[in-house]
Amino acid sequence: MRLRNIFSIKNLIKLICSLPVVLVVLYFVPVLGIIMVIARYFLYSERHFYRMPIAMIIVGLVALLPRGLELAITNFNLNLSIPYLDTILAHNLYPHFIDYGKFILIAGIIILIVSYLLKSFISKLSNNIRTMVSQYTSTKQAEDMEIRKENDLKMREKEITSAQQTPHAVKCPHCGKTNSIIGTVGKCKSCRSAIEWHAKK
Ligand SMILES: [Zn+2]
Repeated sequence: MRLRNIFSIKNLIKLICSLPVVLVVLYFVPVLGIIMVIARYFLYSERHFYRMPIAMIIVGLVALLPRGLELAITNFNLNLSIPYLDTILAHNLYPHFIDYGKFILIAGIIILIVSYLLKSFISKLSNNIRTMVSQYTSTKQAEDMEIRKENDLKMREKEITSAQQTPHAVKCPHCGKTNSIIGTVGKCKSCRSAIEWHAKK
């Protein structure tokens, strides 16, 4: 790969819309992040369909985990001491992470459902098109076959009638005289015995 190809516009856009970058953008500018998530569907093949929403759900769950643990500990009176949990919860950035986690989790679930529906719709549509095309081709082939058969039959009939109408030279097996007969059967002009013309194979 040449250096120019590596730094092509498409690769640059792919780099900008890569998973970690989008996750960071979703934190600072959520609307732009969502636009980038949608853009990814046009940039990447179907293999990447579920990557982004699943990553969003995982990151959202991780961001909400300390708060969830805190709720579980206070609600169920659990006697657990998790290292750094209090530090994380007391950090003045953590409320932002809770908002981010909620947003990314909900958005991830919605995008996952939408991409699932979209994917099944696309595959159903392409299946329908494929069936239609194959049905069309098979009817077309059957029609072609019918026409060819008909033409063959006509051709053979023509051959038979032309063979019946052209004069043939036939040597009489009895007297040896050469007769000219029309069609395939006739009579010898000198000895009156039946003679027959056979097509040479
Ligand atoms: Zn004869």
